Amino acid sequence: MATMLLLTFLISSLIMVTVGLAIDFMEILRLGIDGQLSVDPSDVETASLDFGLLTRGQPLAVLHPVSAQDIARVVKAAYGSNQGMTVSARGHGHSINGQAQTTNGVVIQMSGWKGGNKPPRPHVWAEERYVDVWGGDLWIDVLKSTLEYGLAPKSWTDYLYLSVGGTLSNAGISGQAFNHGPQISNVYELDVVTGKGEVLTCSEDENTELFHAVLGGLGQFGIITRARISLEPAPNMVRWIRVLYSNFSAFTSDQEHLISLHAEPSNQKFDYVEGFVIVAEGLINNWRSSLFSPQNPVKISTLFPTGGVLYCLEIAKNYHESTAQTIDQEVEFLLKKLNFISTSVFTTDLLYVDFLDRVHMAEMKLRSKGLWEVPHPWLNLFIPSSKIAEFDKGVFKGILGNKTSGPILIYPMNKNKWDHRSSVVTPDEGLFYLVALLRSALDSGEETQSLEYLNNQNRQILRYCDEAGIKVKRYLPHYTTQQEWMDHFGNKWDRFYEMKMEFDPRHILASGQRIFTPTFPS
Ligand code: FAD
Repeated sequence: MATMLLLTFLISSLIMVTVGLAIDFMEILRLGIDGQLSVDPSDVETASLDFGLLTRGQPLAVLHPVSAQDIARVVKAAYGSNQGMTVSARGHGHSINGQAQTTNGVVIQMSGWKGGNKPPRPHVWAEERYVDVWGGDLWIDVLKSTLEYGLAPKSWTDYLYLSVGGTLSNAGISGQAFNHGPQISNVYELDVVTGKGEVLTCSEDENTELFHAVLGGLGQFGIITRARISLEPAPNMVRWIRVLYSNFSAFTSDQEHLISLHAEPSNQKFDYVEGFVIVAEGLINNWRSSLFSPQNPVKISTLFPTGGVLYCLEIAKNYHESTAQTIDQEVEFLLKKLNFISTSVFTTDLLYVDFLDRVHMAEMKLRSKGLWEVPHPWLNLFIPSSKIAEFDKGVFKGILGNKTSGPILIYPMNKNKWDHRSSVVTPDEGLFYLVALLRSALDSGEETQSLEYLNNQNRQILRYCDEAGIKVKRYLPHYTTQQEWMDHFGNKWDRFYEMKMEFDPRHILASGQRIFTPTFPS
């Protein structure tokens, strides 16, 4: 079997060489990698796909590294190659549009491992309150490791089966971002393999430009092999509350009021503020909101027979057994200032770890029904707060009609919690919203669930924003031309370009983002 694979590999390598595209992989195999370079068809197939299931890459091989040096060896070989080879880090492959894929190159599979050697495990520095993690570690594993010391990272994503390197290359946001900023605002130091194959440590004090460029840098400047992440004492319980609104401006005023409390003492603010939109025919129980009543999905029409769009504010307060006595008063005090529909309060107390890992439970259910591995034409937008009411009118109450095939999240964030020196781009206002249309395309025969329909609707939403002068910025962006990328980055483009030329001058890295074309002599 191994001989067959090697033979197939050699033949395909030879074919590629004849068309002038590949490097001599046998050279790489001889470089003394401690991990594994694999051409196993199942590895290659996995690395060709992602969560979006919308595009397919064609990698030549997959590297399962166990150290920064493994990665550096491959990148250096690619950098020095005359024929040209790209290298794409892949975390857990949860991108939508092939961002971690490559064609005619090597995918570095950062998460999981193969064979006997393993990448380093998280190292918690309890006194200093930070943890050093491998770039491919999943956040769920980071959480488990830090909880052993009674500590936890401060800023999360809603779903924890994402890699540290993958979310730090975007931003990493959830309901804690209003308070702690995105995950990229909670990193002290990184080890990075640049596009020249150098291993550099960077932080606020060392290789500062690289540090800021890599955070939110869409994998363009280097591969994160280690991140030092800030920690706080972990609570053990969470009170998770959902309340409903039929009035959009009451909903957003309350959200904005709650996030304005970010500087208050912790007993006078919530720890998590999110929200979602419920269009008329949607079930309240989709995969992002299954805790309303797990056994018994709630039909909106039974709650609000008059129909219309509803908005759900989702808030949470962390507590510890030792503060359990005061949680009722603290929550009551905060809820008193809000203007939700008074009969619509849903409260659950649960373990902190179960709260953070809530989407995984929903994933299990969807997987069992064959509804997880389906195309996901997701659209994530940052919208300036001054335009959110217009967006509601045109999109939630307009373009979407009364059908959705997935959750629609909406929550505001404070721009002052985002470091303007990072590569990520956000709207030009002090407050902006994330609107995440997290929809799945199904082959159910119903037109409104088809991929084509959802793709068209996404285009219609973007066109509407453009025509209405709503200056959105895409989160987890995806474009196909450099001009679109230049527009996306706006006044950050020149810097982005300069950093690319410095740290990945041959455009080897993360070509699946389609920002730069690899440059090799023919
Ligand atoms: P991949 O898809 O594997 O990679 C993404 C990009 O990062 C690629 O360009 C890749 O080359 C690059 N990359 C990967 N690893 C590294 C590395 N070590 N160094 C440098 N570059 C690297 N995002 C949020 O912010 N908040 C959420 O709440 C949230 N929820 C989600 C829920 C689900 C179910 C899914 C599928 C996605 C969610 N996301 C969320 C989006 C997620 O953050 C991005 O898709 C992220 O890119 C996924 O991480 P990944 O590890 O799978 O990265």
